[in-house]
Amino acid sequence: MKTKLIIASITLMASSIASMAQPKVIAHRGYWDTPGSAQNSIASFVKADSVGCYASEFDIWMTPDGVIVVNHDPVTADNKLEIQNTPSQTILTEKLSNGETVPTLDQLLKTASELKNKNMRLVCELKTHDSRARERKCIKQMIELIERYGLTDRTDYITFSKDGYKEIIKQAPKGTAVYYLSGDYVPAEIKYTKGRGIDYSLKVMKKHPEWINECHDLGLEVNVWTVNSPEDMQWCIDNGVDYITTNDPELLQKIIAESPAKPAAPAKDKKKSKKSKK
Ligand code: MG
Repeated sequence: MKTKLIIASITLMASSIASMAQPKVIAHRGYWDTPGSAQNSIASFVKADSVGCYASEFDIWMTPDGVIVVNHDPVTADNKLEIQNTPSQTILTEKLSNGETVPTLDQLLKTASELKNKNMRLVCELKTHDSRARERKCIKQMIELIERYGLTDRTDYITFSKDGYKEIIKQAPKGTAVYYLSGDYVPAEIKYTKGRGIDYSLKVMKKHPEWINECHDLGLEVNVWTVNSPEDMQWCIDNGVDYITTNDPELLQKIIAESPAKPAAPAKDKKKSKKSKK
């Protein structure tokens, strides 16, 4: 009985410490809004590391000849070439706004494995492909590639694709963190499908602030995107989210540093969520 009481007290203390923790900063598409950088460039990844981000997020697609490239949109920024329908040889000559060419996942992972501190995490967003077969091939290959670079323990996965979300959980090594983006699973569904947590838009989370505590009560984590204004950053901090994905990591770091740690706010409001794009 005494042992049970001690265990219960330790669990309560741990959960209260967890709820007091400050959110961690994730650079959205790398740290791109800074000189010499561009969204999803190698430079953006290195710059996110250089300012001490907890993690850097990037987006991946697979070309028809089976090469995984890093890019947000389904088309390149340069000549608007469709990545899913253009051979890699051509895609990889497409320029980014900082003069780099579209990187491969391989190049980005090589960079990650060579970073000085080797501790910034990777948040890999699998984009929803036109073909489920291609998407599943991409999942298999990305997991293998990440494993080959020894980055499995430093990588989290996110996706809007419901099939992709379930498939990554199925294919990735046990314990891999996979978060769902679309906003249409309640916390209990994330728990049931063995996800690590929710990674929902600020709009969805403001409609469902109660999901933050629901997730924590279920042992799940909460990431919110894309949070760029000081007011919204403060809202996330005050409401006890675990991770904030932002285009302005240095501003967020400053606001977090100036904010006293607070316990998660009580749940409010219950309305329906809508899908949106990350
Ligand atoms: Mg993304």
